[in-house]
Amino acid sequence: MAERKVDRGGVAPANRARGFTPRRRTDPVFIGRGTWLWNPFQRPGIAKPRALILYRAWLADLLTPRILRAAGFGRDEASALALWRERLLRALPRLVGRPLQCHCRKGDIWCHRGTLAGAAVEASR
Ligand SMILES: [Zn+2]
Repeated sequence: MAERKVDRGGVAPANRARGFTPRRRTDPVFIGRGTWLWNPFQRPGIAKPRALILYRAWLADLLTPRILRAAGFGRDEASALALWRERLLRALPRLVGRPLQCHCRKGDIWCHRGTLAGAAVEASR
């Protein structure tokens, strides 16, 4: 039987760039820009050290909407960040032991990779 082409309506299949969850535990997980495993505070106008500090506080649930607004984030951004964080927390245990790939240079101390890996280990306890 000939393989039939399925019309996906122009929607690309899930891929690594979108935060694809790999099937094997040894497959690397891409956590860079464009994925929901990215540090949402790493953006133009926020220096990388500050972005990492914000990321750590965000993961620890120390960034209330009020604090975020005082730091220059809008109400919608604060809501989106809260939803993003909930999704991330649910996924953390699945990241344990997986190589995390970011586009930061290896050894970049301001990359969120180490923080994310540590949070995954914490969440699985
Ligand atoms: Zn990075």
